[in-house]
Amino acid sequence: MTATILDGKAFAAQVRTRVAAHVGRLSAAHGLVPGLAVVLLGDDPASHVYVRSKGKHTVEAGMRSFEHLLPAETSQEQLLTLIAALNADPAVHGILVQLPLPAHLNADLVINAIDPAKDVDGFHILNVGLLGTGQKAMVPCTPLGCLMMLRDHLGDMSGLNAVVVGRSNIVGKPMAQLLLGENCTVTLAHSRTRDLAAVCRSADILVAAVGRAEMIPGDWIRPGATVIDVGINRVERDGKKRLVGDVDFAGAVQVAGAITPVPGGVGPMTIACLLANTVTAACRAQGLDAPT
Ligand code: NDP
Repeated sequence: MTATILDGKAFAAQVRTRVAAHVGRLSAAHGLVPGLAVVLLGDDPASHVYVRSKGKHTVEAGMRSFEHLLPAETSQEQLLTLIAALNADPAVHGILVQLPLPAHLNADLVINAIDPAKDVDGFHILNVGLLGTGQKAMVPCTPLGCLMMLRDHLGDMSGLNAVVVGRSNIVGKPMAQLLLGENCTVTLAHSRTRDLAAVCRSADILVAAVGRAEMIPGDWIRPGATVIDVGINRVERDGKKRLVGDVDFAGAVQVAGAITPVPGGVGPMTIACLLANTVTAACRAQGLDAPT
């Protein structure tokens, strides 16, 4: 038996098409064009590629993209002044500050300066609290993308054992909250977890968000489990640079019921969910129904 491959690239394209259709309707019926502002400090090449890709997809979906590319030495005060201006700008419905920030800046302070209603990354403390208490929140894009793929594949997840490996604020913790919201029995594992192999083997749904190349072998996976591999790890194999996940795909695909590949799994869903969150923010700002 080999697992069903959950094609995030194709699924993300469908989400972007739905977002673009919604944007078209908003524009025609209400003259509303959602706008996304992305703030990037410094010249990290990977971050620039990522920000360009966000801008391209934003425009392709019929929305406005505002890019603020600032030098790495930008002061906290300058950054907070920019965020205040974006908070006040009615053309901007979503604000994303690309992380990580240079070390001289306080990321918590910067993120919490964003208007929570425009916090399309879902990292503001208010959105974290809303999600944690099961209220309507802006949900972080990567776990939201994972949830959409899980819902699409599994439907009702009530009563399933879900194990999330990794407890970061941007992936692991919100993922655990979302799975709890789906009535899963959730285990949040991390670097101090005892007998991680046994914990993983208990999972009907296994989400790996660690950042360690292929650390989860096939024999940690319960036969038939649904595996979501969030990890993006750059490795060199046979002299070639490759991207691999946190799960040993070749081993896991023989055991799992379904699995996301790396690349082409969770990754493309993250930007699609960013676009969806921007439309949601624009709708809420105008008192309109947000897309589901
Ligand atoms: P962090 O480094 O913030 O968190 C990693 C987590 O993994 C920590 O909770 C850590 O535990 C845990 N961990 C580390 N080593 C082990 C171990 N040996 N056993 C069990 N748990 C361990 O990473 P992120 O959450 O930011 O990212 C995780 C991965 O997901 C990365 O590969 C990243 O590139 C990828 N990613 C992909 C995205 C996408 O769009 N597809 C978006 C965001 C991230 P502890 O807390 O105890 O230290």
